[in-house]
Amino acid sequence: MVHKQEGTVAQALQAIEVNPYEMFKTQVRLAGTKLGLPPDLLEVIQTPERVLEVSIPVRMDDGSIRVFTGYRVQHSSARGPCKGGIRYHPAVTLDEVKALAGWMTLKCAVVDIPLGGGKGGIVCDPFELSEGELERLTRRYTAMILPLIGPWRDIPAPDVNTNSRIMNWFMDTATALRGEPMYAIVTGKDVAVGGARGRREATGRGVMIITREVLARLGRDLRGTTVAVQGFGNVGSVAALLLHQAGAKVVGVADVSGGLYNPNGLNIPELIDYVAQSPKHLIDGYSAPGVSSISREEVLFLDVDVLIPAALEGQITERNAARIRAPIIVEGANGPTTPEADVILEERGCLVVPDILANAGGVIVSYFEWVQNLQSFYWDEEETNSRLTQLMQRAFRDVWQLAQEKKVNLRLAAQMLALHRVAEAIRLRGIFP
Ligand code: GLU
Repeated sequence: MVHKQEGTVAQALQAIEVNPYEMFKTQVRLAGTKLGLPPDLLEVIQTPERVLEVSIPVRMDDGSIRVFTGYRVQHSSARGPCKGGIRYHPAVTLDEVKALAGWMTLKCAVVDIPLGGGKGGIVCDPFELSEGELERLTRRYTAMILPLIGPWRDIPAPDVNTNSRIMNWFMDTATALRGEPMYAIVTGKDVAVGGARGRREATGRGVMIITREVLARLGRDLRGTTVAVQGFGNVGSVAALLLHQAGAKVVGVADVSGGLYNPNGLNIPELIDYVAQSPKHLIDGYSAPGVSSISREEVLFLDVDVLIPAALEGQITERNAARIRAPIIVEGANGPTTPEADVILEERGCLVVPDILANAGGVIVSYFEWVQNLQSFYWDEEETNSRLTQLMQRAFRDVWQLAQEKKVNLRLAAQMLALHRVAEAIRLRGIFP
C-alpha cells in the first residue's frame, strides 16, 4: 500500500525548516501540483483570508495589569463559516495559528462537512494563571475578537490547553455583549449550556475509529495490537482509553513531564484518574508494578504496532524519523510530522494516517454541536457517536481509495481530496468582485 514519493518531491522538501506555516504552504503546493491546480489558485488557498492580532490586558490577582497577545486567523470560508479551536500556550506564534487554520480548512473538506477553517491562540501559560485570571483573559479575548466572529462567520472551539469551561465563558461573554443567546458562536461547551453529548471524547474517539479502520485494511483488529501514545491530554488520553477498552495494549504513554512504559500494557483507567487529580494534570509521579519511566521522546521509538502522536506539531522530524519502529502512525495532533520526516517514514514503509483525517473527530462533533445549537434540538450520545463513526469511515474509505488510484501515500491523498473540494468551491463561487 505504501508508495514511494517522487525524487523531485523529496528534493523540494529538503529546503524546508520546521515552521508550521511553511509546512502548510509546501503541502498545498505539492498536493495542488499533483492535482494540476493552477499556481494562482494555490496562492489563494495558501493565504489566510483574514488575520487578527489583539492585545488583551488582564487585571492580575496582585492588582497589576498584564498584557497578553492573542490571534484569530480565518483561513477560508469557501465551503462554509470558518471553524477551529483556540490554543493557550507559551509557544503560540502567528505562523503557527496560520498553519493550524489552514489545516482546519483541509480537515473540514476531507471529511466533507460544510465548514471552512480558522484558528485562534493566546500566548500564555494557563497553568501559571489563577482561575480568575484565566476567566478574565478568556472574556477579554472574546470581546476583542467578537467583531469578526459569529455563528455564520467563524466558530471557535477547544484546542491545546482549552476546555469546556473556557468555551462556556466564551459563549457567556458573547451573549452578554450581543444581548441575545449566542450558543452557536462556539462549540465544545458543557452539555448544560448547549454542548453536544460526546464532544469531549470526540477527537480521541475518531482516532480510535481510524486506527480500527486502518488495521482492518491490513487484515487485523484492535485486540492485542500494541500502541504508544505521545501526549496525554484531551486527545491522547481518550484515544488511549478507548483503544484499551477495545482490547488494544497501550504499552507506552508520554506527556511534557516524561514517559511511562509497561510491555504488558498500562492500566489506562488508573492513569487517567491519577492525571485528573495531579495539579498540572501530568503523568509525572505515577508508579505501578511493571511500569518503568522512559523519556518523553523515547515513547516515539517503542517497538509497537501503532504510534499515536497526540501532542504538538513538529515532533517527528528528519532528526528522529529513522528511529521510529512502529509500522503505522495515526496522527492525533495537528502537524506532528514534518515533510522531511514524511519522506524518511515512507522510505521505511511506515503507513502514516494524516492529521487532517485522523483527528477530524473533534471538528465533526463540533459541527454536530453547531447544528444542534442552531436548531435548539439536542441528540443523545448514541446518535452523535454513530454519525461520527459514519463520517469518519466514509472519509477514510475515500482517502484510501484515492491513495490506491493515484499511487500516493495517505497524506497526499487526503490533501488532494481536500484541496480538490476547496478549489471547486472557490471556482464555483468565483472571485469577488
Ligand atoms: N481543535 C480541534 C482541531 O484541531 C477541534 C476544532 C473544532 O472543533 O472546531 O481539530
